[in-house]
Amino acid sequence: MTDSTSPTSVVRLRTTLDNVPGYVPGKPAAQRADLTTYKISSNENPYPPLPSVIKAVQEAALEINRYPDMGVVALREALAQRFGVGVDEVATGTGSVGLLGQLLQITCEPGDEVVYAWRSFEAYPIVIALAGANGVAVPLDSDSRHDLTAMADAITDRTRLVVVCTPNNPTGPVVHADELDAFLDRVPDDVVVVIDEAYLEFGRDHRAPDALATYRARQNVVVLRTFSKAYGLAGLRVGYAIAHEPVAAALRKAATPFGVSDIAQRAAIASLEAYDELAVRVDALVTERDRLLTGLRQLGYAVPDTQANFVWLPLGDRTPAFAAAAEEAGLVVRPFATDGVRCSIGEVEATDRLLQVAADFIKR
Ligand SMILES: *Cc1c(COP(=O)(O)O)cnc(C)c1O
Repeated sequence: MTDSTSPTSVVRLRTTLDNVPGYVPGKPAAQRADLTTYKISSNENPYPPLPSVIKAVQEAALEINRYPDMGVVALREALAQRFGVGVDEVATGTGSVGLLGQLLQITCEPGDEVVYAWRSFEAYPIVIALAGANGVAVPLDSDSRHDLTAMADAITDRTRLVVVCTPNNPTGPVVHADELDAFLDRVPDDVVVVIDEAYLEFGRDHRAPDALATYRARQNVVVLRTFSKAYGLAGLRVGYAIAHEPVAAALRKAATPFGVSDIAQRAAIASLEAYDELAVRVDALVTERDRLLTGLRQLGYAVPDTQANFVWLPLGDRTPAFAAAAEEAGLVVRPFATDGVRCSIGEVEATDRLLQVAADFIKR
């Protein structure tokens, strides 16, 4: 759904702005007197921050009169150590959406092409259009998975960037390691391929690629990850890229100066240190996801596989009706036009209620 209701302007603005779709955020859940409402529209982590993370945030709050470390050195060192790469191979940004914008800035001149799958993350067409680049959206296959053969076929002399989202938001499946390798063999060496792994930690499919191994083997691969989902820091805006030195250096050059706050930097470090505790929560969300997926399929819904913290209901033109039925039951889901509904994994009660809504809806 594009929302380019731009007010008319006296001053001259870039005409490319007319091509920029608006980001539709997940709606907040309205308060209701009769029942607890749940927001399962933005793939957020339902758990509150860990005590150790809150402590880091409180300490950092005492110094917000100062700019943060512009080099984000301590966090980059922690990430480098964790993933066995050099500090110079790490770049950070204001969420991985921030890094996506940086990637566009460092790869694309106006008119250059970016190949990506569709439907996928709705930020892609936005950052591409903002850069004045031309997005080449390649339809998903019938299992709601990336069609990597068609994506390789879509690469031209003008292609500068390819985005592979795995697991794919909003549909859920991963690309398979062998498909990704065959695909990368066909991509010219000078075209950057970004593997967006925002939901990596929720994956349990052994066919998924080892993106870091792929990265080590290929000079043109960038791995993009975030603290927003499994780590539960969506409100702090911090993500990172693992990229070969020239690319990582360019990404750091294109970053908003002091964009990642000290609060975010310290919370991210504390979260890396507390990952064992967070992993327990991720496991619980995976269990809940599998319960929801099984329940929906038993009801007769054609839900694709999901390796993320959400499920996709490909409801076509029944999408708005399902979203309305969910809202009536106190659940805010995320409808995408007349394609389908994405439901994030939240509280156990939200899953129970969603299954009830789905059971009632199918009887209509
Ligand atoms: C949520 C998400 C991101 C991360 O967003 P942040 O800016 O890091 O909060 C990146 N890619 C995909 C596919 C996502 O769904």
